[in-house]
Amino acid sequence: MARTDAIVLGAGVVGTCVALHLAKRGMSVALVDRAGLGEQTSFGNAGIIEGNTVFPPAFPSRLGALARIALKRAGEANYHLAFLPKIAPWLMAFRAASQPKRLIETAHLIRPLFGSAVAEHEALMRESGATHYLRKTGWLKLYRSARSFAALQRELGLAGEFGLPLQPLDADGARALEPNLAPVFAGAVFWPQAASVSNPLGVTRAYAQRFRALGGVVVSGDARTLHRQGQGWRVETDQGGIDAPDVVAVLGPWAADFLAQFGLRLPFAVKRGYHRHFKPQGNAALARPVLDADAGYLITPMEMGIRMTTGVEFAPRDAPPTPVQFDRVMGKARELFPLDGRADDKTWMGSRPCFPDSRPVIGRAPGLTGVWLAIGHAHWGLTLGPATGRMIAEMMAGEKPFVDPAPYRAERFL
Ligand SMILES: Cc1cc2nc3c(=O)[nH]c(=O)nc-3n(C[C@H](O)[C@H](O)[C@H](O)COP(=O)(O)OP(=O)(O)OC[C@H]3O[C@@H](n4cnc5c(N)ncnc54)[C@H](O)[C@@H]3O)c2cc1C
Repeated sequence: MARTDAIVLGAGVVGTCVALHLAKRGMSVALVDRAGLGEQTSFGNAGIIEGNTVFPPAFPSRLGALARIALKRAGEANYHLAFLPKIAPWLMAFRAASQPKRLIETAHLIRPLFGSAVAEHEALMRESGATHYLRKTGWLKLYRSARSFAALQRELGLAGEFGLPLQPLDADGARALEPNLAPVFAGAVFWPQAASVSNPLGVTRAYAQRFRALGGVVVSGDARTLHRQGQGWRVETDQGGIDAPDVVAVLGPWAADFLAQFGLRLPFAVKRGYHRHFKPQGNAALARPVLDADAGYLITPMEMGIRMTTGVEFAPRDAPPTPVQFDRVMGKARELFPLDGRADDKTWMGSRPCFPDSRPVIGRAPGLTGVWLAIGHAHWGLTLGPATGRMIAEMMAGEKPFVDPAPYRAERFL
C-alpha cells in the first residue's frame, strides 16, 4: 500500500493536467487509469484550443434545422431513436440553457476561464517540450448561406465587447488564408487567436512525461474500486492499494459511472462524435482547422492526415458506433476541399462529457469529503485541460484560484 497526497482518477488530457498542476505544487500524486494514458476522448478530438468561445453549442432554434435533424439528414447531429425518451429531460434542460438570455449569461460566466486557455497550454507546453505541436494559426469558420452568416451578429457583437479579435471575410478573403478551399460558401469568420495542435495524444503524453519528471506516478487501476479508508480514500491498482486524503475524479464520459456509484445526481450526458483521416489530393494543404458550419463537420490538419470530425450524436455511450454522419457530409466536404482517399481505415468514436449548460463541474463533490470533480468539459476538454488543472490544484492547495470557480460548482444543479 502506498500513501499519496492526492489520487487523480482518469488520465485523459484533463486528468493529466490536474495531476501535473498538483505535482507542480509539491504534492505526491498518483494518476490512475484503466486504459492507456490520453487514449480515450482526448485522443480523437479536433485539436482546437478554442479560447475564443463566446456562445456554447446551442439547441437549434430554427424549425428547418430541427426538421433536418429529425429526418436524419443533418451532418451536425444524429440520434438513436430508442434513446430519445432517456435523453429527453437532458435535451429539455439543454434547450432551456440555449435561450438567448442564458447564452449571453453563459458567455460572460465562462470568459475568464476560456480567456486563459491558450496561455495556460503554452505554459505547460514550454515546460513539457511540447510546443512543436502548437499552431497559432487561428480557426476559420465557413457559412454556406448568407442567412446563417447574418445570424452570427449577436455572437460577433459580444465577441467585440469581450475584445476578441475576429475578421468577418467573404469567400475571397477566406481563400487568401486557405487557398485550397473552393468558393462554395457565402461568408466566413476568422478567429486569429484560436490555436490548435497537430496531435492531441502527443500533447497529453508530453504533459504526463513532465508529471513523471516531477515525481508523479501513473498507475493502472479501476476507479470503481475507490472506497473510504479511515479518514481518506483508497483505490486498488496493479501496484496495490493507494491511499490519499484527496481524490479528483476526471473520468471524461465515464464520470457518469462515478456519479452513480456515489449517488451524486447531476445532469450528465454524452454527445458522441467521430473522426476519420483523409489524404489531401496532390499538394493541397490546410494551415488551420476549418469548420463547415452549415454542413456540420470540421476538417483539420493532423500528423496523421486531414482529420474530419463529425457533429454530435445522441446515443448510449457504450452502444456500437453508427458513423452515418460521414455519409451525409462527404459530398459537401469533397466539394469544399480536395480530399483524396482515406489515410487509414479506422473510424474513431469518442463521447463528449456534457452538462446541459455546457459548463464543466470543477470543484468539490457535494457531500463527499475529500472528493473533487473536474468533469463535463463537453466540446472543450482539450481547450480547458491546463486551465482547469491549475484552478482545481490551486483550490486543493488552499491558494486563491486564478479564476473565480463559482460558475463551475456542482451545487448549481442541486
Ligand atoms: C469528435 C470530437 C471532437 C472534439 N474536438 C475538440 C476540440 O477541438 N477542442 C477541444 O477542446 N475539445 C474537443 N473535444 C472534446 C474533448 O475531446 C473532451 O472534452 C476531452 O477529451 C475530455 O477529456 P477528459 O480527460 O475529461 O476525458 P477522457 O480523455 O475520456 O479521459 C478519461 C479517462 O478516464 C479513464 N477511465 C474511465 N473510467 C475509468 C475507470 N473506471 N477506471 C480508471 N480509469 C477510467 C479513461 O480510460 C480515460 O483515459 C472533442 C470531442 C469529440 C468527441
